[in-house]
Amino acid sequence: MTTNEDAFARAQSVLPGGVSSPVRAYGSVGGTPRFVTSARGATITDGAGRTYVDLVASWGPALLGHAHPAVVAAVQEAAARGLSFGAPTLAEAELAEQVIARVPAVEKLRLVSTGTEATMTAVRLARGVTGRPLLIKFAGCYHGHLDALLAQAGSGVATLALPGSAGVTEASAGETLVLPYNDLAAVEAAFAEHGPRIAAVITEAAPANMGVVEPDAGFNAGLRRITAAHGALLILDEVLTGFRVSRAGWWGLEGQPEGWAPDLFTFGKVIGGGMPVAGVGGPAAVMDHLAPLGPVYQAGTLSGNPVAVAAGLATLRAADDAVYAHVDRAAGIVSEAVSAALTAEGVAHTVQRAGSLFSFAFGDGLVRAGGPRSYADVLAQESWRYPPFFHAMLDAGVALPPSVFEAWFLTAAHDDAALDQIVGALPAATRAAAAA
Ligand code: PMP
Repeated sequence: MTTNEDAFARAQSVLPGGVSSPVRAYGSVGGTPRFVTSARGATITDGAGRTYVDLVASWGPALLGHAHPAVVAAVQEAAARGLSFGAPTLAEAELAEQVIARVPAVEKLRLVSTGTEATMTAVRLARGVTGRPLLIKFAGCYHGHLDALLAQAGSGVATLALPGSAGVTEASAGETLVLPYNDLAAVEAAFAEHGPRIAAVITEAAPANMGVVEPDAGFNAGLRRITAAHGALLILDEVLTGFRVSRAGWWGLEGQPEGWAPDLFTFGKVIGGGMPVAGVGGPAAVMDHLAPLGPVYQAGTLSGNPVAVAAGLATLRAADDAVYAHVDRAAGIVSEAVSAALTAEGVAHTVQRAGSLFSFAFGDGLVRAGGPRSYADVLAQESWRYPPFFHAMLDAGVALPPSVFEAWFLTAAHDDAALDQIVGALPAATRAAAAA
């Protein structure tokens, strides 16, 4: 047994902030992070032996729940055959076939290891294909920690209240135009001024890194229309939403029924089922610009790693319609219960939902405005209500994302017992939020 306090003290002396990724450090909620020793189904267990219902799900990948038996078996079987070959395997083609079957707008897929690599590759590909330098991103969207896309990013950048990152050169930041989310007029204006120099617009398919902010009806389709008119590429970042909000991600809920597709998709998280797999996909005419066929270079010693790909394949194979129906229902139950409990305590709030992803924002102003539509809206909320709410839930054995700017993640393993525990913890937590 190791207490979380002892573990954190030891980790802080050798890891910056005691963590390998910033938001894990509980910086915005305060207190001591739980040092996890195991996770199964809907729960995580810390080194002090305490088990929590988990609403982080590894920040998305654990769609089936932690340590799903089919995924663990696939990983064990693959590991026994060798950890990494530096040569192609058929399993990589099988994973691409799975993705293409779900997202038919993808004809070819390049496998990488992280979402950051996926967006970095998509950006290079867009510049290589168009021969243009500039990018458009939206304030509050997070696309990983590549220099070009850290400006006004969500996720940990929002949690730590950073404008961007030190270490990003002006030259690099100057090639990115940051626009307000859900504002097509701003996109039109940027293209009117810089059109011939814009390589791509990148957007989260449905933003979930400034809390959840649903795209307005027609926003993504509008981006498609404007980019196509100006010869720029549209990069739909589905690292978080892909294979999570539906079989075919957010595009399956919006683009496919509406009849439009981006030039490039980025995937991560669920595609690796908890192991390091991510990908860039799109039509062959775009993807074939990548080396070895084309002049856009991209590579990776561990890309398409056989053990990681086995986890991704097993996850996608198991993620059937019943999984998505379960996650949707669980998301409805939890988001409605939280909202009702907040209302009972008189806490003004809005529920943001995009498919099975949801989060909450606090404050009268946002309620009057009908909920946040942009990063500026999100930042204007009463964010101080979240830390006491978070800690009351944690005390009751429910681990929420340790930041108000993150989505809550449900899994196929959140059964009635797990949902009951979440709902049972709400009265005390919403009282704490009201008192803040
Ligand atoms: N894009 C989006 C939409 C994300 O949510 C994330 C990670 N949260 C990334 C890109 C970066 O992925 P990774 O952390 O695997 O580099």
